[in-house]
Amino acid sequence: MARMYYDADANLDLLANKTIAIVGYGSQGHAHALNLKDSGMNVIVGLYPGSKSATKATEAGLTVHPVDKAASAADFIMILLPDEVQKTVYKQEIEPHLTAGKVLAFAHGFNIHFGQVVPPANVDVVMVAPKGPGHLVRRTYEQGEGVPSLFAVYQDASGQARDRAMAYAKGIGGTRAGILETSFREETETDLFGEQVVLCGGLSALIKAGFETLVAAGYQPELAYFECLHEVKLIVDLVVEGGLAKMRDSISNTAEYGDLTRGPRIVTDQTRAEMRKILSEIQSGQFAREFVLENQAGKPGFTSMRRQEAEHPIEEVGKDLRAMFSWLKKQA
Ligand code: NAD
Ligand code: MG
Repeated sequence: MARMYYDADANLDLLANKTIAIVGYGSQGHAHALNLKDSGMNVIVGLYPGSKSATKATEAGLTVHPVDKAASAADFIMILLPDEVQKTVYKQEIEPHLTAGKVLAFAHGFNIHFGQVVPPANVDVVMVAPKGPGHLVRRTYEQGEGVPSLFAVYQDASGQARDRAMAYAKGIGGTRAGILETSFREETETDLFGEQVVLCGGLSALIKAGFETLVAAGYQPELAYFECLHEVKLIVDLVVEGGLAKMRDSISNTAEYGDLTRGPRIVTDQTRAEMRKILSEIQSGQFAREFVLENQAGKPGFTSMRRQEAEHPIEEVGKDLRAMFSWLKKQA
């Protein structure tokens, strides 16, 4: 079994007299900044002038600087910008301030692994990647817990890169839950595969296809929504709590028999072949190239796909149903 590291394995003192700049104050940024501050670290936030997040950060008691000023003042620079803007911001506002001995950190390996960001040799380059969205990183920390995280070293200029990454993971609460060591390559490739094939791409395609099949056969869209979307959470909560076995213990025998006999007909050999193809597009850099070019072109395909998805009947039905749930909740 791969080794997990916990609070006792990491030393926060390594960051005690350092200034940590959190660049970006979105999902991950706000959580990292506030958790580190509550862990007693010296945190500043780097944002572009006029950013809407600046007010939020200031109101939370954080000091906000333009990105270049934050990068110049900090010893440890964590980049929590959207992946597609990191290259430009890095080149213009961070790289000029990467003097010897600093740490450059990421929460996802994309830009380093695919060569979009090429740091100088005299800085440490590390990753601390919580395996959960930012609001959970913050909420679990406030509850005295944490979100399991990955950490990795890409470049160790100081001889302390690994310990510094682990200290940062402790500061955001990661070592309370356990952290696992990986490489930039492994994290990047498995993260992209997971979100494309299972978590985001696979799951949303499965939900939509189930919904469309029921509606096309004449069933009420509201029922199709409940069966194919709403109940996903109930099932997934059980799976996360106790594996597939716990979920199968809780569902009816009818459901379990249907699961075992019909599930494999949905994910077929053809589906598995497509999964391998998607993985090889990730490994070869084909996906990264497509995403980078799409962004450089101003996201024409991305924008149009987002609009089409927003117009899908499952979203219309869902909006109405969820509005009714909250109305019922307020009555209760
Ligand atoms: P986000 O979109 O929620 O937040 C990005 C922040 O960057 C915002 O504060 C935004 O105002 C700011 N920003 C955007 N463009 C900017 C620019 N040109 N200059 C300066 N600031 C700019 O991003 P996120 O989801 O928190 O992702 C940050 C990083 O964390 C990414 O590398 C992502 O892969 C990684 N990550 C995200 C999650 C997640 O669940 N969201 C989980 C693990 C790792
Ligand atoms: Mg991801």
